[in-house]
Amino acid sequence: MSESDCLFCKIVTGEVPAEIVREAERTIAVRDINPQAPTHVLIITRQHFTDAVSATRADSKIMDEIIREAHEVAAAEGVTETGYRLVFNTGTGGGQTVFHAHGHVLGGRGLEWPPG
Ligand code: AMP
Ligand code: ZN
Repeated sequence: MSESDCLFCKIVTGEVPAEIVREAERTIAVRDINPQAPTHVLIITRQHFTDAVSATRADSKIMDEIIREAHEVAAAEGVTETGYRLVFNTGTGGGQTVFHAHGHVLGGRGLEWPPG
């Protein structure tokens, strides 16, 4: 898929509407359209990378920024006390469906392990 066809690139530019809950210099936080928990927010890089590994290979600081933003979102959502999960689905077998780097912040309910 080219970057011009990428859903999350379109969310970053505003071409596709989304509920943005937080903005930072190099990431945006968007509420997931199909939430799997009371808090389900995606931390999306503004720049297009295929996945989290490609992002960190290209730019070693970006994952640090994603994780810090994820924690800020978790705090704003009030789930840091109870705990939350940060997920990077990587590749089709890992459950990735949108091939633009993003982390999921999931919280607000008890999360089981192992994941499905
Ligand atoms: P992944 O499966 O890890 O690639 O995650 C992609 C996530 O994007 C899924 O949880 C989807 O529910 C979510 N998603 C798909 N389209 C949209 C959209 N237009 N706005 C917000 N979240 C979306
Ligand atoms: Zn993209």
